[in-house]
Amino acid sequence: MINTAQINMDVMQRFSRLLAGRRLAHAYLFVGPQDSGKTQTALSISQLVNCEGPQAPCGQCASCRKIASGNHPDVHVIGNDAMEAIKIEEIRFILGRIQLMAYEARTKVFIIRNIELMTLEAANALLKTLEEPTPNTLMILTTSVPEANLDTIKSRCHIVKFFPSSVNRIAQLLTDEGLNIQEARFLAVYTEGCLGKTRKLIKQEIIPHKRKVLDEMLLNRNNDNFLKSLAADAQEKFDNMAA
Ligand SMILES: [Zn+2]
Repeated sequence: MINTAQINMDVMQRFSRLLAGRRLAHAYLFVGPQDSGKTQTALSISQLVNCEGPQAPCGQCASCRKIASGNHPDVHVIGNDAMEAIKIEEIRFILGRIQLMAYEARTKVFIIRNIELMTLEAANALLKTLEEPTPNTLMILTTSVPEANLDTIKSRCHIVKFFPSSVNRIAQLLTDEGLNIQEARFLAVYTEGCLGKTRKLIKQEIIPHKRKVLDEMLLNRNNDNFLKSLAADAQEKFDNMAA
């Protein structure tokens, strides 16, 4: 399902205006920090351009629901969180699909995440597609390290910048979800306003962990074993974050 809290509403409004004015380009590059909502927003734009409801994206029609569940035959997401290289075969798959009629969508959408992970061969293959746009096709590429990508790719895309959401907005979202305000602000500041990171930390139960640390410090137990287990635990969490 699409996590609506991670959708950049400013970008959505911009795309709504472009769509209404029939000024949508064929390729965009979303540039911004990891976990700043680039893929979620790209999926929401896929819904926007293909929605069958009166107020796009409605989230309720067959098209919106298929995209949300990852089952739309004309909306493809390439790349994943594992940060593995994007190979030529994956780009060839896109090149093959681009030439075919859509199964059911008005606009075929290809989302390629973390394009800095493309092999040079893959990047060059993609370049051809960007040079020769096909009708009713939208390409949305994402990257958190724009300097690592070929200038020839960047110059053929419209750049859309993403920023970490503000600390206050994240804190508000977290309090709406039931966290108390101190915990929400701690997480928002700690993750520099990246909602994706706060969710990872919540999954890793950082708040009970933080409470435990504070309790131990306040009680001043001076327990070496506790400090050692804390350091090992922190390293594990750091490794999980980096993975
Ligand atoms: Zn819809």
